[in-house]
Amino acid sequence: MKDEKVCMGCGVRLQSDDETQIGYIPDNHNMIWCQRCFRIRHYNDMTEIVQDAETYQVKLSMIRNQEALVVQIVDLFDFGGSFIPELHRYIGKNRLILIVNKIDLFPRSTNWQRVTDWIRDAYRQEQLFPEAILLTSAEKGFQVRETMEAIEYYRQGRDVYMVGTANVGKSTLINRMLQAASVDGSDLTTSPYPGTTLDFIQIPLDDGRYLVDTPGLLRKDRMTEWLNPAELKLVVPSSRIKPKVYQLQAKQTLFLGGLVRFDFIAGDPQSFVCYTSNRLLIHRTKLAHADQFAKKHIGGLLKPPMNSEHGIKWRKEHLYLPSDKVDIAISGFGFISSGKKKAEVAITVPEQVQLNLRPSII
Ligand code: GDP
Repeated sequence: MKDEKVCMGCGVRLQSDDETQIGYIPDNHNMIWCQRCFRIRHYNDMTEIVQDAETYQVKLSMIRNQEALVVQIVDLFDFGGSFIPELHRYIGKNRLILIVNKIDLFPRSTNWQRVTDWIRDAYRQEQLFPEAILLTSAEKGFQVRETMEAIEYYRQGRDVYMVGTANVGKSTLINRMLQAASVDGSDLTTSPYPGTTLDFIQIPLDDGRYLVDTPGLLRKDRMTEWLNPAELKLVVPSSRIKPKVYQLQAKQTLFLGGLVRFDFIAGDPQSFVCYTSNRLLIHRTKLAHADQFAKKHIGGLLKPPMNSEHGIKWRKEHLYLPSDKVDIAISGFGFISSGKKKAEVAITVPEQVQLNLRPSII
């Protein structure tokens, strides 16, 4: 390593030895950004350098041996993709605070108490017991002050480790907190592409302790990892979701773009409400015609994928919906709310995409 300086954007050591590795800057360049962060900032171009799960785990397990407060940021819109396997092992006996981010995308009628209860339950099942659950929008600056107060309250003079999978909004939140605290010279790179923060970056706190930004785990099973930018534009919401209501009879099918197929197989007529990106087109057809419709239109009328040569492998799940209102959450894509009637449905998604059934949050 020729240079011990760190990148202003992602915190990795700058080096000029190997262009394929993290922290690369061309020789003789007095740059404060690694080439990768520079490109992201100026051209929205992400050079493919990723930290594998194994490296990530080694790094994260260091936290177990520290006396620290762990702050996990999750993306409410991609809850499944926000999950860090085995997190309870990495954090050891340290306290945990949970930041549930991107709530600006959800309708105003969302029942936030139900969201919190459901998340608390999901975490309990993973042997994780957050001291506090805060609902934030890092982008809109919503609940940032409250987050800082909670961190200050629970850290009790300890270091703070910020953890999260890539793209949950961790950098955006830290930036917001730094702005709010008026700390100069710390402008972390944020980007619409995953994996910006590559190494631990320490931000000094006023009592000699640190706020430590850890790298984002890249999860290959997230929808956002394998969609191309044009497809992401249709799938990832950029503004508050407007619900789309469909009064369906049994034996009808909805296509949500070309990535999600929802078959209402049996049950009384009822309305299903789709909460997806406002840019995504939804088509209704008869179940009996759905196979043919898919063959003809996926990649064309039904986008994304952007063309019919997509090679996507599909997974179909049968669900028996109860008479209580539930949401079928499709990680990174949105959710479908049932009516209050029992129903048999089938949902077809790309193989890797996670489905969650939860009590309705609206
Ligand atoms: P990181 O990889 O976890 O550090 O995530 P970033 O901070 O780079 O954010 C990833 C993407 O999510 C960027 O496109 C951000 O603009 C977006 N983002 C971050 N916070 C929010 C939020 O509160 N709401 C919405 N809608 N988008 C957000």
